[in-house]
Amino acid sequence: MEPTSNPIYSQHVAVIGAGAAGLITARELLREGHTVVVFEREKEVGGLWIYSPKTESDPLSLDPNRSIVHSSVYDSLRTNIPRESMGVRDFPFLPRFDDESRDPRRYPNHREVLAYLQDFAREFKIEEMIRFETEVVRVEPVDGKWSVQSKKSGDSSNDEIFDAVVVCSGHYTEPNVAHIPGIKSWPGKQIHSHNYRVPGPYENEVVVVIGNFASGADISRDIAQVAKEVHIASRASESDTYKKLPVPHNNLWIHSEIDTAHEDGSIVFKNGKVVYADSIVYCTGYKYHFPFLETNGYISIDENRIEHLYKHVFPPALAPGLSFIGLPAMGIQFVMFEIQSKWVAAVLSGRVKLPSQDKMIEDINSWYASLHALGLPKRYTHKLGKIQSEYLNWIAEECGCPLVEHWRNQQIVRGYERLVSQPETYRDEWDDNDLMEEAYEEFGRNKLISKNGFSSFQG
Ligand code: FAD
Repeated sequence: MEPTSNPIYSQHVAVIGAGAAGLITARELLREGHTVVVFEREKEVGGLWIYSPKTESDPLSLDPNRSIVHSSVYDSLRTNIPRESMGVRDFPFLPRFDDESRDPRRYPNHREVLAYLQDFAREFKIEEMIRFETEVVRVEPVDGKWSVQSKKSGDSSNDEIFDAVVVCSGHYTEPNVAHIPGIKSWPGKQIHSHNYRVPGPYENEVVVVIGNFASGADISRDIAQVAKEVHIASRASESDTYKKLPVPHNNLWIHSEIDTAHEDGSIVFKNGKVVYADSIVYCTGYKYHFPFLETNGYISIDENRIEHLYKHVFPPALAPGLSFIGLPAMGIQFVMFEIQSKWVAAVLSGRVKLPSQDKMIEDINSWYASLHALGLPKRYTHKLGKIQSEYLNWIAEECGCPLVEHWRNQQIVRGYERLVSQPETYRDEWDDNDLMEEAYEEFGRNKLISKNGFSSFQG
């Protein structure tokens, strides 16, 4: 859709969350001329990247009355994509050689990501717009505007009216726990990766890790440094899968998924192998969860599909007043936040128009039909896989911003191939120097590298 020549409106916008999505969104809304209030229930910016050794009282996070620990970051976590691809496009995530506390590696640790987000918030003066330790408890449409009820710790709740609300509250805090037949009588310890921090508690244990995607692959190797044996149960593997993986202590196996668990402590895999385990670690992902939304049934979640969202951002019946940033799972998260929030900002100002409600619903239904035709269940609705760059470029064209760079897309593709073929070493040994050079040439051309080697914003 072409940008319109309509008058541009400035709206008063509430952003929920000051993680990467909320910070990037606040900046884009400001750039478009809106006024912004960011609500954040923690004391600082960074969201998921604020590591805490604290975990929830219920290790599976099933108790609805537990007190929530937001972050799912474990102590050994390093990024799973290279820093050049990860950073925002005009504020690249460059190594900071001027500060010894920073991690200059290409796949840095989680503290470095938090420091980058703090740099970003400082550079663009986002902190001034944030109300810290303020939780949004209710959001509802009222007479064409949005009522936002928030609660600052210790105070009574506060109601305010905004023209629009952008939800940036993250989706890696509400665990999805896989069901195992017989698990109720199984006597061992169970924990979800949301509450995993360090391998120490698993010393000399036999541990089953369920899931072999990013967290499962990392956590199984982390635990294998101290455990007696670690067995990964992988749903993506053939039913006869049974293989020893090359790790220093020679104690890591991959199996097909679990068949049953038993009272005597045994776990039976679909490949027929039996393991007597002390602990199960569920690396089985997370559920979308927006407890503060009151939208009279316009938004519902079914099998982890958020019904209905146009391009995973706008609910047609409530657009453009309500929007969501960061829902799809894909490689280049921060750039997705940037492109989606440029679109939201431009739609709110009237610079770009959305199609009619009917057309948006038609588009959503055709996406659902394409998933159905491929035999994919509803929980795949927001997993974009190979079409992620097509998706981002569609939005980028819609709001007239640059398309995703060739080197960035290719780094994600080749990084993923390395993750699969060399999971132990993909962060330290690579074969895509050509792509790294392309990235740094572009940063240089756009004058985004300062004398000290860190991001210098020229805008
Ligand atoms: P969050 O960072 O979760 O921020 C949401 C914020 O909203 C939080 O600060 C929270 O306190 C606040 N909030 C929530 N509810 C409320 C409320 N009601 N009121 C007020 N505030 C509220 N991505 C990468 O690009 N590279 C990686 O290497 C990478 N590794 C990952 C590793 C793990 C283990 C996980 C789980 C994810 C990883 N990701 C990675 C994806 C990651 O989710 C994104 O990078 C990104 O940081 C998410 O940002 P966000 O702002 O959407 O959510």
